Amino acid sequence: MKPKSTLFRAAEHAASYLDGLSTHPVGATTTADDLRQRLALALPETGTDPARVIDDLVEQTRGGHLGSAGGRFFAWVIGGALPSALAADWLTSTWDNNAALYACGPAAAVVEEVAGSWVKQLLGLPMNASFAFTTGCQMAHVTCLAAARHSILRDVGWDVEADGLQGAPSIRVIASEHCHGSIERAVRFLGLGKNSIVALATGADARVRPDTLEASLAQGEPTLVVLDAADLNVGAIDPFDELIPIAKAHGAWVHIDGAFGLWARASKHAPRLAGVELADSWATDAHKWLNTPKDNGIAIIRDSSAHRAAMSVSAAYLSSPSGVRDQIDWTPDWTRRARGFAVYAAIRELGRDGIADLVERCCRFAEELANGFASIPGVELVAAPTLNQALVRFIHPDPCASVNEQDGWNDKIIDALNREGTAFFSGSRWSGLRVMRISVVNWQTTSDDVVKTLEAAERVIETERGNAIVPRPA
Ligand SMILES: *Cc1c(COP(=O)(O)O)cnc(C)c1O
Repeated sequence: MKPKSTLFRAAEHAASYLDGLSTHPVGATTTADDLRQRLALALPETGTDPARVIDDLVEQTRGGHLGSAGGRFFAWVIGGALPSALAADWLTSTWDNNAALYACGPAAAVVEEVAGSWVKQLLGLPMNASFAFTTGCQMAHVTCLAAARHSILRDVGWDVEADGLQGAPSIRVIASEHCHGSIERAVRFLGLGKNSIVALATGADARVRPDTLEASLAQGEPTLVVLDAADLNVGAIDPFDELIPIAKAHGAWVHIDGAFGLWARASKHAPRLAGVELADSWATDAHKWLNTPKDNGIAIIRDSSAHRAAMSVSAAYLSSPSGVRDQIDWTPDWTRRARGFAVYAAIRELGRDGIADLVERCCRFAEELANGFASIPGVELVAAPTLNQALVRFIHPDPCASVNEQDGWNDKIIDALNREGTAFFSGSRWSGLRVMRISVVNWQTTSDDVVKTLEAAERVIETERGNAIVPRPA
């Protein structure tokens, strides 16, 4: 069997899946038990024709894929894939080079050089900063914070790469109370421990305040400061132009979690991130707002020598010609996917204008969705979008409902919306209350998607409220 027919089958399945996104339910329509029943064959003792394997896989998983690739998926922060980025990703698997060294994938190495430079230009970050394409923002944090750990300890005379952390001076990590869970995990991976994190209380706007940061820094230990661009609940962007100079005056390393929000730098919203370029490291994702397929994070580090010291490897059999970039010296991976192709394709497909338009469109749709929800009876706007994220809350029809009942009601409505199938949302907690998040981060979303989503939401909420049994007052 030639590979070609299997690949053509896969392309047909892919095209029909993508075509179906606008008409099929956005949520999954099957259960874990059902999927297990279909997938958990006895360990195959003999082989199967490859095209058959692919046809079966499509059937066995039918209904088990969330429609996050489509335009009416508003849960968490999960981007879609631009056509050229998706196709480049297929080709990446086809070429199947190991993008660890220039020598084992020359085109993969050079495309990363170019894509890295383009990303720095788009985000307005220092052009001499080093960068790495990682699995996601999680590992971009690990990469950036490993460089930070190197630099902070080097400054107090400690070589962490040689001597590790046993007996090392301690490092404090100051982060917003709203910082993403991936920061805590990066800090754990790096041996600093989550108890080294000092969570800074924020103002009502969910942003770190200069006086709070100043007071925390005054304690004088070697410090790493993590700021948000933007937080995942309300899209809060810390006031970098005020905060970063304060942190720098105390000798801290400043790291930015910009998983999705850093892309606002490539749009008319850029002034809101003024000063972000003053930081020491930035972590973001191509697979969120740039809309490449998953497995594409980006670490950018001002001090390239700290970056290299934290990540590089030397082994006798690793030798590339001089003047080329070996990715292995900048990433935590050894054998790795050639992530630059998808990033390169996405940036070419959209161009600077198209990226600005994608970001601005998503923000506008988030606002339309938030306002639309807020105009439905029984819905309250908790946080209007300042970027592409908003929060709404569903009000229990019984005015005497307890906080628990209120929270349960929110879960019930989110579940009902998702089961109805037009769109898909996820919940969160904000100021101690259960809420629903609205996140728009996919190139596919159109005004029509917004309208359809709101029509469906109005129907679902009205039905649920009608069905709710509210005890009559005695
Ligand atoms: C998604 C997200 C992360 C984690 O990124 P991954 O690419 O999933 O590893 C970190 N921070 C924020 C604010 C996020 O939205």
